[in-house]
Amino acid sequence: MAGYANIIIDISHEKLDKTFQYRIPEALQKEITIGTQVEIPFGNGNRKMAGYVVGITDTPEYDVAKTKEILGIWEGGVPIESQLIALAGWMREHYGGTMIQALKTALPIKQRANEKKQRFVELSISPEEACVLLELWEKKHYTARARLLEALLEESPIPYEEIAVKLNGSVAVIRALKKMGVVRVVEKRLYRSPVHEYAQEGRRISLNEGQQAAVDAVWKDWRQGVRRTYLLHGVTGSGKTAVYIDLIEHVVKAGKQAIVLIPEIALTYQTVERFYQRFGGKVSILNSKMSAGERFDQFERASQGDLDVMIGPRSALFTPFSNLGIIIIDEEHENSYKSETQPRYHARETAIARANMAGASVVLGSATPSIDSYYKAEQGEYVLLKLEKRIEEKPLPKCEIVDLREELKQGNRSILSVRLQEMMEQRFRDGQQVMLFLNRRGVAGFISCRSCGHVMKCPHCDISLSQHNNGKAICHYCGYEEPVPQVCPECGSGYICGFKAGTQKIEEMVKKRFPEARALRMDFDTTRRKDAYEKILSAFSNREADVLIGTQMIVKGHDFPYVTLVGVLAADMSLHVGDYRATERTFQLITQAAGRAGRGKLPGEVVIQTYSPDHYGIQLAKSQEYEAFYQTEVAYRALMGYPPCGQMLVMLVASEDEMTAALSIELLAGKIRQAKEHGKVAGLSVIGPANASVAKAKDVYRKVIYLKHKDYKELIKVKDALEQFIALHREFAKVTVQFDFNPMNGF
Ligand code: ADP
Ligand code: ZN
Ligand code: ZN
Repeated sequence: MAGYANIIIDISHEKLDKTFQYRIPEALQKEITIGTQVEIPFGNGNRKMAGYVVGITDTPEYDVAKTKEILGIWEGGVPIESQLIALAGWMREHYGGTMIQALKTALPIKQRANEKKQRFVELSISPEEACVLLELWEKKHYTARARLLEALLEESPIPYEEIAVKLNGSVAVIRALKKMGVVRVVEKRLYRSPVHEYAQEGRRISLNEGQQAAVDAVWKDWRQGVRRTYLLHGVTGSGKTAVYIDLIEHVVKAGKQAIVLIPEIALTYQTVERFYQRFGGKVSILNSKMSAGERFDQFERASQGDLDVMIGPRSALFTPFSNLGIIIIDEEHENSYKSETQPRYHARETAIARANMAGASVVLGSATPSIDSYYKAEQGEYVLLKLEKRIEEKPLPKCEIVDLREELKQGNRSILSVRLQEMMEQRFRDGQQVMLFLNRRGVAGFISCRSCGHVMKCPHCDISLSQHNNGKAICHYCGYEEPVPQVCPECGSGYICGFKAGTQKIEEMVKKRFPEARALRMDFDTTRRKDAYEKILSAFSNREADVLIGTQMIVKGHDFPYVTLVGVLAADMSLHVGDYRATERTFQLITQAAGRAGRGKLPGEVVIQTYSPDHYGIQLAKSQEYEAFYQTEVAYRALMGYPPCGQMLVMLVASEDEMTAALSIELLAGKIRQAKEHGKVAGLSVIGPANASVAKAKDVYRKVIYLKHKDYKELIKVKDALEQFIALHREFAKVTVQFDFNPMNGF
């Protein structure tokens, strides 16, 4: 029987970790859960106060005789804070970590410093009384007083400063009127809005048949009180954003609010403008460039009912709307929806949890849905909606594959194939633009043969081995290692080595090969400065350059009508990352890169360069057969027990002392094996321990264990048991342990 509740009293950022323990009365055992707002006696005088339950436990922290009892449930509805605390509780449960970490993620951070306040003068008598008074003052020629009163009759309140400047009114006049009880001076918080005033006159588009059908499907359910999760699958340019806007309009008309999640990199001026045109000042945004104060202001505006729509990346999910009606997640397959710090939550799962608590619907949208979401749609957990056609039926670009092994045979050692060079030359001649795309994520260095395309893989996990400085090829899941071979085990050639390429080198090559072409480069280095990202994109958009070379940053957002050729320089770089999601990621990247070509009047073409031209991920990306890709990929995942067919949990142990890290991870591994031997977790597979893919970062050693099980709930139980084990053993005092469910970017 859980008898004690840990309660926080003040929800301001700094005080979150200060909890007080109270006894839960027998009668309220069922009603009190995490997030419940309760009434408690506080301090020496037992003052009645409100508090929030953030934890429930059997073990008392203090002297039981002195522990006070909760008085009751705080009446007056469920305030938004309760809902967010309950959500934090859900996050802690699902992703591990501490309740404080979860609370700090889910609750808006209060910023008391730096508040901007403005003073206003307002009438404190009725307009009728004011009129009588005005007449009197005019007769008596009290000009200054009359002028102020007249202005206040037109508009009240008026900013204090404005009175001095515009009305020529002195402080003395205001004081006099205040003394007479005619006006009062009030202070109001001033909120900064990050959304510029755009032209509100937008062309109002009427939805096509497919778009309308998608809106109707969601709205019909919504009106009948049915709340579900929908997956909107539509190629780029099929009009998904228009569907979101229409749905939100319905929801707002029904008196509810909407949250729109967009990957930060795609949160462009153009997107915000489209929302602004429909919702005006009732829409706001969040982004990482905003100060903590600016962000908090937007949350305040949301909780006070000044906003209807919040657009932003992952963290916008925690906007304190008290009447949330819908959550939209655009580009739902994006990696950035998974948090890289504790709690390592996924915005999609967390959005669904919040929607359940708030009675809201969730719409996920993508041109290349994550295998996870599509699987859930197939299982009937989500409702699948499709937009089959591009707007104006613009054809998808033509795609061709260039086999880089052949290039080598022909003696071309450049990263630009002969075919790609030819096509580029033609575009430059015709005054069209080219984008060259290099996925840099594979920089860890897989090992492949440039002659036959063979890639070194782990015999146990089937993921690519990574090259290490010690000349070893290592698996980051299970720790398997072997020496990097001197000759290719497949074809015997000596062209086997770690794969490396960078955008800077490509830029140099392009400049050498096409000295007359103007090139722009966009990658981590060139976008470090604020606004650099927008500057490069708008320069390219204004045709100040002929070719844009970049990493995955360039595949999102902007429309470039004169781009008619996209080159995917080394599809292999993402295909052979040591991660079970590598093929999925490659398919998504190629599809998105291809989506950049032919968005204007001119048709587009795409060239995919690869050493693995027969790989299903490449072949199906070329033909743009999402369904076929999905079926093949899911069959593979099922075979290997990878998500979504199985569930995965990674545990990371980190310590400045390598020995301590190694011993701790062995201790955990031993504990898990022991539990397995006792038949406690049937169906659990344990992989590792091994060094993390980043084995040492900032002088901290990192070790991992991967666990697989069919059932997510079983993995949560394992996590809970291990958290308890860790709390009870002093050996773990000097290490940090983190959990990550269904990892997306790995440790
Ligand atoms: P997606 O989000 O699927 O990439 P968008 O909603 O951005 O697609 O639509 C692509 C383009 O087509 C945009 O410029 C948009 O204004 C336009 N568009 C969308 N729906 C319609 C429609 N029903 N009629 C005409 N143009 C539309
Ligand atoms: Zn070979
Ligand atoms: Zn392995």
